[in-house]
Amino acid sequence: MAETEIEWTDSTWNPVAGCSIISEGCKNCYAMEMSKRLESMRVEKYIGLTRQTGKRVVWNGVVREDEKSLTTPYSWKKPRKIFVNSMSDLFHDDVSDEFILRVWNVMRETPRHSYQILTKRPGRMRDIISTKINDILPNVWLGTSVENADVLHRIDSLREVPAAIRFISFEPLIGSVAGVDLGGIDWAIVGGESGRAARPIKECWIDEIYEQCLISETAFFFKQWGAWGKDNKKRSKKDNGREYRGRTWDEMPITIVDPSQQASFR
Ligand code: SF4
Repeated sequence: MAETEIEWTDSTWNPVAGCSIISEGCKNCYAMEMSKRLESMRVEKYIGLTRQTGKRVVWNGVVREDEKSLTTPYSWKKPRKIFVNSMSDLFHDDVSDEFILRVWNVMRETPRHSYQILTKRPGRMRDIISTKINDILPNVWLGTSVENADVLHRIDSLREVPAAIRFISFEPLIGSVAGVDLGGIDWAIVGGESGRAARPIKECWIDEIYEQCLISETAFFFKQWGAWGKDNKKRSKKDNGREYRGRTWDEMPITIVDPSQQASFR
């Protein structure tokens, strides 16, 4: 089923293209380079989203709502886990409320799928869902990214969002989040950064999250070491692998599945 290399999902769906940097975790955002590559392949929705600065490709501030992508999940007949906007942020200020509501409607009309929405703007996510949507869909998981202690406040916003499943992506983990409160959080993903300019992850930072997962009964998923291994040496992501404490960790949150939907698409 998996159509992506992202270990915790089956497919990606990108109704929005383009974004802008909001915090340290965005510094080496893979979506900037990827957008440039897709532009060179003349993929329409990625044309004109980035600019070159020295050797780096960065966003140029254009954020595009992609009408054509809105229907994609209807065409996937078998249930799948779908990461929404792997190449952008659905709750970016330049995505209109109206478009977000249309994305929500697609998710409502396709309950056979589980949607994983990850944002670095959980304040806007909370405001829109609480005031304009007011609807908890059992097949929609809402998450925020936390790369270091500077952005721990995002977790408080996430806790205020009405949601069936709440999750946090601690990736790229580039600093300690010692004592992080995971109360009310169903799932935590942890991973180091990859790529040429990757910043190191430390095992003790992973320990801090793992221990809080035990306390809060939060499912723990260790995605990767990335470019820096457990021994603090740089090598390929593949060579560093996915083991932590001598094993892989692929825990997932407990979800409510509608049996009628599952049965009809087997
Ligand atoms: S919010 Fe996500 S997509 Fe946007 S710049 Fe940051 S890492 Fe990239």
